[in-house]
Amino acid sequence: MSLSGRTAEAPAAPPGPSAARAHLLNAGTVARYRATVADGVDRVARRVAGADRPFTGVAPGELAPRVAGIDLDRPLGDAGAALDELEDVYLRDAVWFHHPRYLAHLNCPVVIPALLGEAVLSAVNSSLDTWDQSAGATLIERRLVDWTAQRIGLGPAADGVFTSGGSQSNLQALLLAREEACAAAQGHDARRDLLPRLRVLTSTAGHFSVQKSAKLLGLAADAVVTVPTDAQRRMIPAALRRELDSCRRDGSVVMAVVATAGTTDFGSIDPLDEIAAICAAAGVWLHVDAAYGCGLLVSPTRRHLLDGIERADSVTVDYHKSFFQPVSSSAVLVRDRRVLRHATYHADYLNPARMVEQRIPNQVDKSLQTTRRFDALKLWLTLRVMGPDALGALFDEVVERAAGAWELISEDPRFEVVTRSPLSTVVFRYLPTGPGRGLADAANLYAREALAASGAALIAGTTVDGRQFLKFTLLNPETTLDDVGHVIQLIAEHAGRYVRERTELACQVG
Ligand SMILES: *Cc1c(COP(=O)(O)O)cnc(C)c1O
Repeated sequence: MSLSGRTAEAPAAPPGPSAARAHLLNAGTVARYRATVADGVDRVARRVAGADRPFTGVAPGELAPRVAGIDLDRPLGDAGAALDELEDVYLRDAVWFHHPRYLAHLNCPVVIPALLGEAVLSAVNSSLDTWDQSAGATLIERRLVDWTAQRIGLGPAADGVFTSGGSQSNLQALLLAREEACAAAQGHDARRDLLPRLRVLTSTAGHFSVQKSAKLLGLAADAVVTVPTDAQRRMIPAALRRELDSCRRDGSVVMAVVATAGTTDFGSIDPLDEIAAICAAAGVWLHVDAAYGCGLLVSPTRRHLLDGIERADSVTVDYHKSFFQPVSSSAVLVRDRRVLRHATYHADYLNPARMVEQRIPNQVDKSLQTTRRFDALKLWLTLRVMGPDALGALFDEVVERAAGAWELISEDPRFEVVTRSPLSTVVFRYLPTGPGRGLADAANLYAREALAASGAALIAGTTVDGRQFLKFTLLNPETTLDDVGHVIQLIAEHAGRYVRERTELACQVG
């Protein structure tokens, strides 16, 4: 039945119990399951094939009434009709990360083996909290945790768990670090006295989830101390040493240093080896946030950029950033599996303590979540179909493309570029000349919005030292330098028009 085939006056008869049951996946409904999911896949495939822009440019005010106008208490009864409707409220105006002119955030195009994994894992619906809900899935996740820890070089006692994303991984790592700091201080420092004195050091280019985690962990409002970066936006080791000294002098306790391997804006990688040596000397937990840079773990040519990461106490990886995996797919890894006990609680109904003695592998013992998706399956199928080198080669390609884009923009007198990224971002801005020189911030903001409204390309923005910049994040090997050239031409046109109109207006008024 199509959407238009139903009149507003004829309410759907309430489905009887047998009609409702026909929607449950079971032995009797596999034909419907196959057909329904195939129909959904077909709709997406058509949209992917037909997307001539990454976005239609729809405004929230235009889309919101369409979503609000749907009566959720009046079902359509049929998946085809629901898909027709979905075209209207979602698919037509979705943001398409596979499009070569999507250059905005850390969203990657996804590999097909991972989509296969997604289809399998949600239908089987294993929940990774306990062995008795997941069996093989638990073992597969554990193999992937071990595989990742081995790629990092964390050593034989390493462990970890899949998470919902880099933010949760950072939160969990800092929870473990906080507990270790409290445990170490016990005897001469009551926990209550210690908590407000705990500090986390990260660079000024570190991710905001560090601040958020500190708040969630009950630390003081000024607990996160930012360490300055060099011109390449990497943490300055000497400055880190100074901050550690200064914390010691004023009686605060540094519970963790968070180094970033791939800052969100600049792709910069903190000097991990030097930072690790400083942390080791100071006896401070080192967490490496490699949410973005983790793709280097499989790079056939650039793995050395992560040298030193093997000395971390904990590491965040986001496979959904640089392993071409669908959201979500992420993990937190630790050097010493014993620290995961800080996340362990036992419930009689779920994972009673005796199960530990019985060596029943319950992943909930290591996780902040209870019911949890089998996201690991996507990475598993990706590795089994493509292998790590192929993934790493894709990431290498976007890193090379970003270097090309940087050169292109740096040679263009209309633009100013910031540091050259070892990963795949380019931060730059349009520089008006003449009387419009003072309009740079507004012109760059305008260009980004105008571009998004046209849907011709999506780019990101950020501020650098208080000034408005634009950002490309390249994660699509299909993006060519021609695409980049085309988009910077559009930016120059939008920004140039903005400046022209403002300065002409000013002349007329003057
Ligand atoms: C994206 C990002 C995060 C947060 O990861 P989510 O998966 O979005 O929660 C953390 N750190 C860095 C450096 C990131 O780029």
